[in-house]
Amino acid sequence: MKLIIFDCDGTLVDSQHMICAAMQQAYEAHGLPVPPTEKLLSIVGLSLPDAFRRLAGLSGSGEDHPVDGLVTCYKTAFAALRQSDRHLEPLYPGARAALDALGRRPDTLLGIATGKSQRGVRAVLGRHGLSGRFATIQTADDAPSKPHPGMVLAAMRQTGVPPCDTVMVGDTVYDVEMARAAGVRAIGVGWGYHPPEALAAAGVDALLGDFSELAAALDRLWVAASSPQPMAATYL
Ligand SMILES: [Mg+2]
Repeated sequence: MKLIIFDCDGTLVDSQHMICAAMQQAYEAHGLPVPPTEKLLSIVGLSLPDAFRRLAGLSGSGEDHPVDGLVTCYKTAFAALRQSDRHLEPLYPGARAALDALGRRPDTLLGIATGKSQRGVRAVLGRHGLSGRFATIQTADDAPSKPHPGMVLAAMRQTGVPPCDTVMVGDTVYDVEMARAAGVRAIGVGWGYHPPEALAAAGVDALLGDFSELAAALDRLWVAASSPQPMAATYL
């Protein structure tokens, strides 16, 4: 069996408008300046406490920054936005077709690893009619934030698929680092919130410009995984 684990925000769905609006409300509620959009998008994928700490430039805990309050405000704002239908989280072009095609492969299981909560990711999957497509859904509720490998390790444990048959597909450096830490391959997508150059520098095994390239990229990775690794050129 093969396991393809997808990130959610920035990979399957474009949630940037919802995320930035909720961030803005959280900062404004605390009388704090709202970081620029580019900075806000750079932390998408982390758990909320890690995201707010990163945005404040904090490396540890115990500093005088209202992380808990910001997280609570963000969650409330995000839930209200979702209810209001003012902001949608559209699927990226080709996402549904790619999931449909992979779902027809009898040797392939699909999974999710996201910084969203279980409630949040199940809501967005349900809205797009994708509930039930994923054999495993790992979230920030159940494991440490990316880039800790916990979510990928849990997905492999739940499905019984070994690292050599598992691939993580994501849009950020956190996804690539998580995959590396878990000993699985990583496919980067160029349509999300981190630039392709950053994903390449983090060591992706393949980089996609469009969802239509996913099936071929996976086939190449499986071939590479099943054949002996070539000796490094310097030793030939
Ligand atoms: Mg992402």
